[in-house]
Amino acid sequence: MTACLGAGWALSIPVVLTGVVCTGVVLLAHWVIRQRAFPGRDSFILLHLGSLWWMAAASIEMAAQGADCKVFWASMAWPGIISVPTFWAIFLWQYVNSVRTPIPLRGVLALAVVPVLVWLTAVSNPWHGLFYGAATAPLSAEPGAAIRYAHGPLFYAAAAYVYVFMLFCMGVVLRAALASEGVHRRHYLAFVLVTAVPWIANISYVGFGQTLFGFDPTPFSFAFTLVAFAWLIVGVRLFDLMPVARHLLLEELFDPVLVVDSRGRVIEANPAALKLAGLHEGWRGQPLRDWPVLGSDLQALLGGQVDTAQEQLLTLTSAGRYFEVRLRAIERVSRRGRALLGQMLYLRDVTQRHLSELRLAEALAVSEERLRTISILHEQLQEQALCDPLTGLFNRRYLDEFFERERIRAQRDQIPLSLALIDLDHFKQLNDVHGHMEGDDVLKGVARHLLGSIRGSDAAFRIGGEEFLLILPGADAGEARRRMELVCRQLAEHPLPTRGGARYVTLSAGLALWPEQGAGLDELLQAADAALYEAKRSGRNRVCALC
Ligand code: GH3
Ligand code: MG
Ligand code: MG
Repeated sequence: MTACLGAGWALSIPVVLTGVVCTGVVLLAHWVIRQRAFPGRDSFILLHLGSLWWMAAASIEMAAQGADCKVFWASMAWPGIISVPTFWAIFLWQYVNSVRTPIPLRGVLALAVVPVLVWLTAVSNPWHGLFYGAATAPLSAEPGAAIRYAHGPLFYAAAAYVYVFMLFCMGVVLRAALASEGVHRRHYLAFVLVTAVPWIANISYVGFGQTLFGFDPTPFSFAFTLVAFAWLIVGVRLFDLMPVARHLLLEELFDPVLVVDSRGRVIEANPAALKLAGLHEGWRGQPLRDWPVLGSDLQALLGGQVDTAQEQLLTLTSAGRYFEVRLRAIERVSRRGRALLGQMLYLRDVTQRHLSELRLAEALAVSEERLRTISILHEQLQEQALCDPLTGLFNRRYLDEFFERERIRAQRDQIPLSLALIDLDHFKQLNDVHGHMEGDDVLKGVARHLLGSIRGSDAAFRIGGEEFLLILPGADAGEARRRMELVCRQLAEHPLPTRGGARYVTLSAGLALWPEQGAGLDELLQAADAALYEAKRSGRNRVCALC
């Protein structure tokens, strides 16, 4: 070492050029440090330092004139030679896998073991000769001539170690290129090309003896690699652009968005979410359930077994607002399965829509209620139109329709149809003696009596003051007479209750038979009227038929 310091130094063009490249690497490292962080940035900067060490040692080796001195500085390059592929591998791994956590100290120490060992082995070569062989000698007798190194077994062991890392690097970028698509794939393919440069430089040196300034071109190729990577990562900013754009989108979004980790702590919230909760700072890492306004409701949604594909309606009573909440699980998929990292909650303000829906439902309920009332009134009106208000029996208006329907049915079923025209006896007299009110009560009583005597298929009508008509489908002349005589007899036997006391009343009835005595209602009524007249004439309180 002392001899080395004493020996001469020469500043050649290659030395100056190497110095320039070294300065370039320092400036590049400085520039990278000042750029926005990217995954693996620390390793990338350390990679600069390793490369710098390597090239600085190479430059000093070139400048040294003594052969021993050159070998010494070649040995001094080894920490740089080993650390470059090591940090390169770590950087690529962190970059393609978006790992932003720095390497733990334990890992750094473990990775430093081999470079230190190789370094010590190389520096102590004069004592064991296992790194550079005895044949290591200058190419010529000229002062400062380059050294031809005879490689010993430990050199090959160190080289193998370096190649393992370089292979790993190539594998990482190739895998990333294959697994990605489109512009990302092109980005990673550029990585593959850049990664191939040190390989080509090293193989051309080791395999074909190609040199740069009479020296191993590998460290210079790494300098190129550094520039290319720095440009690809920081210059193109391909992988930063999308997260930045997404972040901006989140910031600009009117709808609140929250990200909670697997322990229910809020780790991200956009301005809309913060505004809703009335928070400004100190919220990061707070449990979601403690968030004002929306925390407990959202926690309940997260805690419940909700269908994440479905939107949940969240009512924030305190804020008087309604939100549709969409939950999205954030998972890491690995060979060991899925691990839940957290959840994203996207809240869509549907207050206006929900209030409109509520108003619409209310209006619908009101109009349905009105419709129900209208149809009830309509039914009542229809009933009133067809019914006699005093007795509740059908009135004359309904007679035509009912008769026509029953006539068609009788014709179709080939069955008889009878009519009975009824008139109360001496009713005027009852009115005169007991008054109209009692007369009305009697009319009601007669109506009840008639309704109680007829069948379900029959119908009773009040067609005049104290005149009634019964339509008896299926009853022939004999049956009609039998049934009407029973009605007549029972009325005569049972007094009817009135406000003035029980009153006896009798009726006279005239029968008419369809179709024998008439095809239509008018003809039949005429026939029945004639029979009724006959019943009156023959003494009342009886049933007559003229057929
Ligand atoms: P007849 O035995 O011959 O039938 O004798 P009548 O007194 O019953 O004679 P008629 O059938 O002509 O009498 C009809 C009477 O019915 C006249 C009227 O005082 C009475 N009347 C008609 N409509 C009503 C009514 O709505 N209420 C009451 N209380 N009486 C009525
Ligand atoms: Mg009459
Ligand atoms: Mg009468």
